[in-house]
Amino acid sequence: MTHTPAYGDDDPVAALATATGGSALTLIRCSGGGSLTRLAGIFSPAKKISEAPGNTIVHGWITGSGDGEKIDEVLVSVYRKPRSYTGEDGFDISCHGGPAVAAGVMNALRGAGFRDALPGEFTFRAFMNGKLDLTRAESVMELVAAKTGEGRRRAAGRLAGALEREINAVKKELVEVLAEVELFLDYSEDERGESAGDEAAGTLPGRSRVERALTRLEALAAAWDRERLYREGVLAVIAGRPNAGKSSLFNLLTREERSIVTAVPGTTRDWIEGWISLDGIPVRLVDTAGLRNDAEPAGTAKEAGTGGADETANAVPGEAERMGIARSRRLAGEADLVLYMLDGTAGITGEDRRFLDEFTRGKDGGRPILVVWNKTDLAALPAGPYRPPAAGRDFQLAAVSAKNGTGVTELAAAAATLLKSRALGDATGEIPGPGTGPGTLRQKRLLDGAAAALEEALALAGEGEPLDLIAPLLKEAAEALGEITGEISTADILEAMFSRFCVGK
Ligand code: GDP
Repeated sequence: MTHTPAYGDDDPVAALATATGGSALTLIRCSGGGSLTRLAGIFSPAKKISEAPGNTIVHGWITGSGDGEKIDEVLVSVYRKPRSYTGEDGFDISCHGGPAVAAGVMNALRGAGFRDALPGEFTFRAFMNGKLDLTRAESVMELVAAKTGEGRRRAAGRLAGALEREINAVKKELVEVLAEVELFLDYSEDERGESAGDEAAGTLPGRSRVERALTRLEALAAAWDRERLYREGVLAVIAGRPNAGKSSLFNLLTREERSIVTAVPGTTRDWIEGWISLDGIPVRLVDTAGLRNDAEPAGTAKEAGTGGADETANAVPGEAERMGIARSRRLAGEADLVLYMLDGTAGITGEDRRFLDEFTRGKDGGRPILVVWNKTDLAALPAGPYRPPAAGRDFQLAAVSAKNGTGVTELAAAAATLLKSRALGDATGEIPGPGTGPGTLRQKRLLDGAAAALEEALALAGEGEPLDLIAPLLKEAAEALGEITGEISTADILEAMFSRFCVGK
């Protein structure tokens, strides 16, 4: 009979926890019932493993399960249940780096009866064994995926239990109010018979506690936009006419502000992108093909501050360029922030005005645009407020020299401020500490559900409805909070959640 691996069994499992490649070391993680006995079968000297107390490190060799061939000299961290990440017996093997060693050790482990771990299976087991609640389990993946230091700080806050504590505190309040309500209902039935509902009307015991709980939940839910900003990041697009200095700015920003080194997948893309950190906000920065209207020749005329459109003749863009331009427009249309570059030596041209106008039209006309006056080493920014005549609004301006770097720090700060105000609006609702807000959409939705139930409960209480209509709503809210921490969970939800983790976590 074949055995289909499933979350929830305690098979001995193994997984590479580090990326394969040319690293100095590789870490292989193993956990599960009987895992140390199995390891002893492929370890020399075997006795050192079987006699090792938990939380100790053993030095020796991994050997082939059949022929006893020495595969690699390793250090093994030994854990004995329940004092381990998963709560089971387990161990980590630190072996030499490189794909051949990793494959050799993994094969030896398979020979000894370990199966390959499913994605997130270690954390799944840790959750099932009560080592961490769901908010902490989810934060483990958040940490691995964090793009900036700020993203890491927030995920680490949740890993340290900041969200779990806040949720549990609110839930405790609600459960206490519920207990009081139930008592009241019982008492009413016993003592007052038929008229119980009427008598109970309008009085929700612990009403102010429910109101406070609602305020706390709303503050948590409101923090989602902020958490998501640092977690997922935003798209910023550098646009502008050819030669405005887009590539120069892109190179400068990715060199100076980069916190994340990304090999861009899909090198067939004809735009360049890289992740940078703007004040801790992960920003996917895209350098687009130069914009020019294909209906007319590109302008290079100098006409700063004027409304004229005296572009000088230039070649009409070819097919490839036209496609590139269309793509740039589309990207700019999706962007959370457009850095629109002007060539200061050419000033603002009719084309620039048309593009700025285009970017500010439509339903998302409020899209933040930072107009970047470039080449200040050659052409200083004209004084006064800046409103390109065709566009019906003022633009925030940054003046830089992408050549020598002047003004780029200020540009980065202005961009970060714009992004924050867009994502967070006027929302103040600051929450107690880093990582207290929801870190996943799942958590956010449950928070919203709990808050909605409390709101309804309070509204019914306000209308003098009987308590037996209100109690189920309080219960619903408490249960939603229990789902956030995983106190209440179903196998389906857990599997769907952990299967998105990486293997080895
Ligand atoms: P793009 O076509 O918009 O990507 O523009 P590039 O970044 O390729 O720049 C076009 C030309 O302008 C290049 O020769 C750059 O060296 C030059 N350039 C870019 N930024 C500056 C600047 O701040 N000052 C000066 N003097 N030249 C610049």
